[in-house]
Amino acid sequence: MARKTVKDMAATCPCGGSSFHACCGRYIEDGLPAPTALALMRSRYSAFVTGNEDYLRETWLAKNRPSGTIIEKKDPIKWVGLKVLNHQELGDRATVEFIASYKKNGRMMKLHENSLFIKEDDRWYYVDGTFF
Ligand SMILES: [Zn+2]
Repeated sequence: MARKTVKDMAATCPCGGSSFHACCGRYIEDGLPAPTALALMRSRYSAFVTGNEDYLRETWLAKNRPSGTIIEKKDPIKWVGLKVLNHQELGDRATVEFIASYKKNGRMMKLHENSLFIKEDDRWYYVDGTFF
């Protein structure tokens, strides 16, 4: 069932963790619930890298979930790295601040976001993000 792109990255997880299967693959491919908002955030980054829109949709809070395209295919960007700056969890709410680097049209760009997560029925969901 593994996608080609995932196989290629078996050595290292896109999020910078150990192997994909020991890291985000457990949540993306095996369907285990991410135990923390931080783990969910990292797995969502990896899902962006591997082009897994289903996973992104599933982990989006239902009322905020986009119905259309999440990953732009016409003008694709190449994710090159993730750096988590801050992570705060308080009960069933959490925030993760991170910088995701990517390349677009050969130029290096950075996405600096503070993401909000909510826990519902023992699962973490992405709510939305504030950009810097
Ligand atoms: Zn990972």
